[in-house]
Amino acid sequence: MIIDCHGHYTTAPRELELYRNAQLAALAEPSRRPTSTELAVTDDQIRESIEKNQLKFQKERGTDLTIFSPRAAGMAHHIGDERTGKQWARLCNGLIHRVCTLFPDNFVGVCQLPQVPGVSPANCVEELEYCVNTWGFVGCNLNPDPSGGYWTDPPLTDRYWYPIYEKMVELDVPAMVHVSSSCNPCFHGTGAHYMNGDTTAFMQFLTADLFKDFPTLKFIIPHGGGAVPYHWGRYRGLAQDMKRPPLSEHLMKNVFFDTCVYHYPGIELLTKVIPIDNILFASEMVGAVKGIDPETGHHFDDTKRYVDQLKGLSEGDRKKLFEGNARRVYPRLDALLKQRRM
Ligand SMILES: [Zn+2]
Repeated sequence: MIIDCHGHYTTAPRELELYRNAQLAALAEPSRRPTSTELAVTDDQIRESIEKNQLKFQKERGTDLTIFSPRAAGMAHHIGDERTGKQWARLCNGLIHRVCTLFPDNFVGVCQLPQVPGVSPANCVEELEYCVNTWGFVGCNLNPDPSGGYWTDPPLTDRYWYPIYEKMVELDVPAMVHVSSSCNPCFHGTGAHYMNGDTTAFMQFLTADLFKDFPTLKFIIPHGGGAVPYHWGRYRGLAQDMKRPPLSEHLMKNVFFDTCVYHYPGIELLTKVIPIDNILFASEMVGAVKGIDPETGHHFDDTKRYVDQLKGLSEGDRKKLFEGNARRVYPRLDALLKQRRM
């Protein structure tokens, strides 16, 4: 079985965007506030948006199940207030739940959290609990920078974040560390802000003792771990200079990387440098890079092709990377699959 741990509903029906526009317009002009918290979207619309996109690619590329969450750039935690943020998260998560209900064999949900810059993530506990307990979601996306490129909140290792970690541990769900759009003109969203977020999160984990307080807390750093695998020697050396424990002991029970790296040499490096037990297969389709690589004739984000080309990957390692690691990092997914005798 091939589990893709990183997919977003980037192809949601247009009604979602219209709702958001109305919600944001109401921030300036309350009379424009949407009157309902329901979306007028039919199951047929949802089916069409999935069948022509994510499901089609799953079939073409030979993957089976996508861990699916709302569009990351759409989270835009820096816009609006607590109230609009909660409403928006519930609406986006509700659509994910509908996709997972319509295509239970192909998608399992991960939720967006109603984070707001400067507001304690304790305000996200309720949404996480609801999505996991009521809708069967298996994880969440946690934005390390809800300000959208200005990094105004404390680092992920600060006690500020502990309320959401306590709930994650209690529910036994991991978080993908995932920024949203950038409102800082210095940082292109997917080209710079995403990579910064991934790299920054790793360095924050390196410098603190978060996992002493939460030994079972798990994070997936997406996009191949940002710059981390490429600069692994730097991080090992910094840890040593700072009298921190070796990375292999200190972080690798809690921090994982996905394979959203869009060329073969990158995947080769990732799998050479990072222990296989810490790598989860992912493509982030349909997402950040949609085009076809003229050098290969295949989609940049068809990451399964790169993994398939890896030389010297044993059958056991291949199984870990495609399935076993995801089932270990997302225990609720494992339980769900066991229930289905998979
Ligand atoms: Zn993503």
